[in-house]
Amino acid sequence: MPDDPKGPIYDAQVRQAWTRQKLSDGTMLNLGNVDREQFFAVTLTGTVAVNETQSGWQRCSDGSERRYTITKLTAFGANPGGHTHPIGRMSDIVADIPGPEDGRMATLTKQTAYVISRRRAFAIEQSAPGFFTTRLIAGAKFSKSEQATVARQQVRWSQHGGGSGVQCQFVPD
Ligand SMILES: [Zn+2]
Repeated sequence: MPDDPKGPIYDAQVRQAWTRQKLSDGTMLNLGNVDREQFFAVTLTGTVAVNETQSGWQRCSDGSERRYTITKLTAFGANPGGHTHPIGRMSDIVADIPGPEDGRMATLTKQTAYVISRRRAFAIEQSAPGFFTTRLIAGAKFSKSEQATVARQQVRWSQHGGGSGVQCQFVPD
């Protein structure tokens, strides 16, 4: 969380993974033209791959659809978790900003939730009940329009437990 004294250490581990495009356990991050998100746990000494448990297509009542990848919360242990946004998620406009459900990890783990994309790495935090922030860790600053989209997402998360509130069907591969 924002007041966690270990926060800067976790941030530095994620910054290093973004810079090297590789987790410290040796796992390559593929942020290119693939639709597969990767999960990782952040420890005080590095970043460790966390395997997905299921992937498929998510079809939502607002007409949007996107790839989804899920894992077990317990796989992160007591550590902050993170995931990647490869540019190949063509169904999604949000490769370099949080996705509509990306407040959930911060809500569920009660810790900082990290995202690594091609252009930047950022942290999603719930600093007070229902109050979300998105903080740049590395890479390009958010543009004005990206900031506006992120602000809208954060308001929705505050109303829907870290999600978008849109009903979605999950169709596994
Ligand atoms: Zn995401």
